[in-house]
Amino acid sequence: MLKRTKYCGHVSEEDIGKELVLCGWVHRVRNHGGVVFIDLRDREGIVQVVVEEKSQPKTYQVADSLKSEYVVALKGTVRKRPPGTENPKLKTGNYEVVAQEIQILNASDQIPFPVDEETPISEELKLRYRYLDLRRESMKENILFRHRAYQVIRSVFLKHGFLEIETPFLTKSTPEGARDFLVPSRLHPGKFYALPQSPQLFKQILMVAGFDRYFQIVKCLRDEDLRADRQPEFTQIDFEMSFVDEEDIMSFSEELISTLFSELLGVELKRPFDRLSYAQAMEMYGTDKPDRRFGLELVDLTDIFKNSEFKVFADAIKTGGMVKAINFKNSNLSRKEIDELAQFVQSVGAKGLAWIKVEKDKLTSPILKFLSQEEKTSLLERLHPEEGDTIFFSADKKDTVYKVLGNLRLHIAKKYNLIKGNAFDVLWVVDFPLMEWDEEEGRFVSLHHPFTSPKEEHIPLLQQALGTQNLDEKKKLLEHVKARAYDLVINGYEVGGGSIRIHKKEVQDLVFKLLGISQVEAEEKFGFLLKALRYGAPPHGGLAFGLDRLIAIMRGLDSIRDVIAFPKTQKGICPLTGAPDYVSPKQLKEVHIKVFE
Ligand code: ASP
Repeated sequence: MLKRTKYCGHVSEEDIGKELVLCGWVHRVRNHGGVVFIDLRDREGIVQVVVEEKSQPKTYQVADSLKSEYVVALKGTVRKRPPGTENPKLKTGNYEVVAQEIQILNASDQIPFPVDEETPISEELKLRYRYLDLRRESMKENILFRHRAYQVIRSVFLKHGFLEIETPFLTKSTPEGARDFLVPSRLHPGKFYALPQSPQLFKQILMVAGFDRYFQIVKCLRDEDLRADRQPEFTQIDFEMSFVDEEDIMSFSEELISTLFSELLGVELKRPFDRLSYAQAMEMYGTDKPDRRFGLELVDLTDIFKNSEFKVFADAIKTGGMVKAINFKNSNLSRKEIDELAQFVQSVGAKGLAWIKVEKDKLTSPILKFLSQEEKTSLLERLHPEEGDTIFFSADKKDTVYKVLGNLRLHIAKKYNLIKGNAFDVLWVVDFPLMEWDEEEGRFVSLHHPFTSPKEEHIPLLQQALGTQNLDEKKKLLEHVKARAYDLVINGYEVGGGSIRIHKKEVQDLVFKLLGISQVEAEEKFGFLLKALRYGAPPHGGLAFGLDRLIAIMRGLDSIRDVIAFPKTQKGICPLTGAPDYVSPKQLKEVHIKVFE
């Protein structure tokens, strides 16, 4: 076999007149009668190969027999392309390789879709033939980009003295709040390992062990319902540090993220990153992961409509809710468009959608007749609408208003293309409540996880909350208890989150009690961590970034599936391998499992 001397995509000026051996796939082959042109492709790019019948009759015959995706090795001499035939779209477009010898290393079956960017393919087909899909330029670039990201990430961690340490995959349940994937134990009938939802407990134990700074680029597994763009297995950049506070972790994270953006995209992010409190984010954007690239902030109108004659608004306020609005500037919406938006908000839990259109010298709206002059004036003063604007209202319980307007602003931004260019909106969200009341479960749950430390000054409130039996009072007190947690949000996605951990047993006990986690349960679930915390645990904290989402955002892609070499479909299936699949009765028996249909 001919041995490669250069990648196709690297052929350049310095090769002119030289003999090279190239190996790759036949991207395209065209016979122009007496001359065959082959676009030869490898991971670094494409180069044009020319075979002339006159000078190389035997090689010409081989070239003429080539088909798409055949694998070949060839020897040839590089020359400049004749003037006027250059291809500016190719990195190697000024050159061509005149082949003297071609070896067919392997044929290819007829491919199910062409390896190009133009042909649309279904997700199922894409994933079933992932090896062909990955040959396409954009997909290949995604994977190479990701590879470069790993290197930059490692370099930043190493610069700051972090140690790369692996944590187990066959382990016990981790408290990230999702369902575990379970692995039956063959050697211990009836017992199961849980696959890690994150290395949380182990990284904390590594701090107790004294390693001081740990990181890992690691798979995490969560058996969640596959909403939108979730993957049952995904990758985190996970780290933990000792003897630090939240400022140290955020500042290190900013360096990590900025270096990635700078080295891989040439984008310099403004540091320090902006910060919003959880309360501010909810009030202004209706979500704790705001996308601030297109305005449409929520404006509170509750005070204006407190005593309104308009029952929809007044009733919402009377029952403890609120009235908020967004102003879609310069939208000039038709009735049909407004109706479509009304339909949308109903799909996210609104009863209806009140609106006011601002036209030349007048307002139009079905609700105007219910509003007093004073209310209208105050409304206009607060929102400053101009001709062409449309104001949308939500009056409901707080959570519903946030959900409705939060989703409406995203929907409008997408539908009306309000996000221009590829700017990055990067911010921290901080001051999360430590816990919130979960109506379904009938108990308080952690916003982050139960090892997240409350703010020191709020610990007395926790004690007070524990002391009271009155649920409303408890809720009020706990609303004010903030966590030492922080989320990094980019373009409306939570790309990372972490916290300073509880390292004192008394505080941990207090938090468990309020979360309704009994001592027995705590002991049973993560007793090994609690025990470790008793043997000289340093103050510590950390964070984990979702690598797949981060890379997708950096590459301007909507789906994380496009930056994972072998992802699952939205239904959690791998069309390439057929997983998940049935196993043989023998295998089931070995792991002591009986399947009930
Ligand atoms: N273990 C957390 C998570 O997976 C991150 C952290 O607290 O460091 O979200």
